Amino acid sequence: MRLIDSHVHLYPSAIALDPVAWAQTQGEAHWARLATRRRRDGGPVQLFPTVDELMHELDAAEIDRAVLLGWYWEHASSCELQNQFYADCIRAYPDRLSAFAAVPLAKRESALATVALAREQGFAGLGELSPHSVGGAAARRVLPEVLAAAGAARLPVNLHVSDPIARKFAGWVETPLHDFVAWAKNFPETTFVLAHWGGGLAFCETGRALTNVYFDTAASPLLCDASAWSRAVASVGSERLLFGSDYPLRLYPRTNEGTGLADFAREARTALSASDLALVGRANAQHLLGLRQ
Ligand SMILES: [Zn+2]
Repeated sequence: MRLIDSHVHLYPSAIALDPVAWAQTQGEAHWARLATRRRRDGGPVQLFPTVDELMHELDAAEIDRAVLLGWYWEHASSCELQNQFYADCIRAYPDRLSAFAAVPLAKRESALATVALAREQGFAGLGELSPHSVGGAAARRVLPEVLAAAGAARLPVNLHVSDPIARKFAGWVETPLHDFVAWAKNFPETTFVLAHWGGGLAFCETGRALTNVYFDTAASPLLCDASAWSRAVASVGSERLLFGSDYPLRLYPRTNEGTGLADFAREARTALSASDLALVGRANAQHLLGLRQ
């Protein structure tokens, strides 16, 4: 079965050609720390492919569609640059790409304007957002307004969540799980996607109780062993999970110099029963994106 990848990042050439220099001139130090990190073996943690390279990898992994997610940029100008690029991408590949808009949480007016215009600009949701990582107190003040507006506009919101007991790395930010639980409960009309297995919420009772929440599987091979798939299905159910890679992160850095996207698709196909895969790998995303099944 052909899959939908619900968690992909891509960057315009202005960023991808020289990410370090770009981040320096734009004041995006937090992103640079994460995206240009090197592994202990000297290899990069992620690659910077073009949209054509993404297409090629989607084909090789038998993935029909990718959902391009924005980044939690520190500056509104970076959000604009990425959103403009994504708008071009989905216009060029309407059958293969959907996109979520980056939202400049620290700038209230720009944040709300981005949400208000998202639908007509072709975006299917908002995120990946991380109010813990950037924007400080201002971002957390604006977030409730953004979540309410997203609910009213039927725009799902993808939030970055890290597992509180995971191995820490440079640029790692604490994202207390009770914050996500509170947001999901306070905004029942808003559909949430909590990334990276919801930082572990996908494996527990607390996560199961959040009925307006999906959990994606982004970066799973770097965070969990392959038992995560069956544990999450048993905990929250396959109708609440979304196959997502975190492309172009290198998912199997010890065995694969590339992104490992095809290996990850294979891992999902192996770990899940056919009926669970049909939901996690495809139907749930179609439902979330409002696509025909
Ligand atoms: Zn993330």
